[in-house]
Amino acid sequence: MGAGFGGLCMAAELKRAGIDSFTIFEKEGDVGGIWRDNTYPGCGCDVPSHLYSFSFEKYRDVALRYPEQREILAYLQHVTDSYDLRGHLRTGAGIASADYSESTGRWVVRTTSGETHIFDIVISAVGQLHRPKLPDIPGRDDFKGESFHTAKWNHDYDLSGRDVAVIGTGSSGAQLLSHVARVARRVDVYQRTPNWVVPKPRTEFGPVTRWAFTRLPFTQNIYRALNYLAADLALSPIIARGWSARPAEWVARRHLRKQIRDPLLRAKLTPDYPIGCKRILIDNTFYPTLNRANVELVTDGISRITPTGIVTADGEHRDVDAVIYATGFRTTEFLVPMRVRGRGGVSLDERWADGAEAYLGMALPEFPNLFFVHGPNTILGHNSNIFMIECQVRYVLSCLRLLPGGGLLEVRPEAMRDYQRWLEKAISRTVWPTGCQSWYKTASGRVTNPWPASTMRYRKLTRRDPADAFRVLTP
Ligand code: NAP
Repeated sequence: MGAGFGGLCMAAELKRAGIDSFTIFEKEGDVGGIWRDNTYPGCGCDVPSHLYSFSFEKYRDVALRYPEQREILAYLQHVTDSYDLRGHLRTGAGIASADYSESTGRWVVRTTSGETHIFDIVISAVGQLHRPKLPDIPGRDDFKGESFHTAKWNHDYDLSGRDVAVIGTGSSGAQLLSHVARVARRVDVYQRTPNWVVPKPRTEFGPVTRWAFTRLPFTQNIYRALNYLAADLALSPIIARGWSARPAEWVARRHLRKQIRDPLLRAKLTPDYPIGCKRILIDNTFYPTLNRANVELVTDGISRITPTGIVTADGEHRDVDAVIYATGFRTTEFLVPMRVRGRGGVSLDERWADGAEAYLGMALPEFPNLFFVHGPNTILGHNSNIFMIECQVRYVLSCLRLLPGGGLLEVRPEAMRDYQRWLEKAISRTVWPTGCQSWYKTASGRVTNPWPASTMRYRKLTRRDPADAFRVLTP
């Protein structure tokens, strides 16, 4: 389910393993996942492109360090074609439900258009950042101007010469701001919580690197490995206030000081929570754009939206032509709106009512032969998510090898319990539970989305023999 990075990786690896009997269901019209949906101006990835690609299909670029949305989407289309996946793809086919049948030991999958399919194994790869979240602000629906979410950009609406409100200053809001401010007459940027922002290294490679990448292509592999190691060894300790947290905060404060001269504006942009609690922004354009004469950073809370603009807590009304919601995604709902039922009719919604959890983020007792790619507690803010996806896909393939002639595989409750205990301890050592509010956790404060350790740790855990944690059932 899903034809983003996760689903395509799974499909390509199935092909590479000689398995051809699979279908990829995609609710939209093409592959790409979030990189198909997010087309806002400036959309790109702050993870270097060499690292932000599959190890079996490495991205090569001798010019640019960071990929833009268009390049990533083209890369995913290239993977789809190179691994001959189009024939397996069913587009416009959202999944409404997946029910495990006790009598057949198979899964009954229904699409939103009412089709029914039967499968032995179901793998969900729907991602965590695909359902836009619009804020619950009174009067939102009364606004008479143009409004849209960053993941549903209206390219038919010309922002030139308009007065625009941008609500939200996360990665998406920060990336698009300079592009909007360049054409709009005025931009009001509504910030609820400041983010830690660190500088982005130079976008273009220098002449020596270009020469090496062109003449000695293996150096691109070295560069990829160095990026990976740097992220794991230097960035991942930040989340648990390890050795690099203070230096990272110092770098971020210096970046702010250098780019924002006005002390009042700087104060508004200074976070009061530990770095790493929210996703760190890697950005060079957000702060300078706030210095522009046509841009105002508004930090008074929004009390309501009127037909013509926005009213803040201090009572000020700012008229605007357009409101851009850079307000993030419904991250903790995972497989919603799908209805998934396992053995004995147990519902996934009920199992996850207090927050999603899964063994290594991939499997649950009572849900035989159901796997998740990018499931609970597997997303990263400090390294390439593609690495995590590959670990999961490799692990799922190892699970499938335990069923050479078919059959059912289910994670043992003890393995799930031990893993969850370890996970919660690891999370308790991070800054996430108490440091701030973020999309990493549920309304009740349970951290359900990010991985709380190094990616090397995850690699080690997913290299174990799944036979230690799973049992084979007879239907
Ligand atoms: P986000 O990080 O969840 O940011 C949402 C923003 O909207 C936050 O600033 C939030 O404020 C604000 N907001 C939400 N509700 C609000 C309200 N009612 N009033 C005022 N402000 C409100 O979403 P995102 O920027 O779309 O990014 C989501 C994730 O996508 C990122 O964290 C990152 O993992 C990924 N991403 C990655 C890249 C990349 O370059 N790799 C680029 C884009 C996105 P609070 O902070 O106070 O909640």
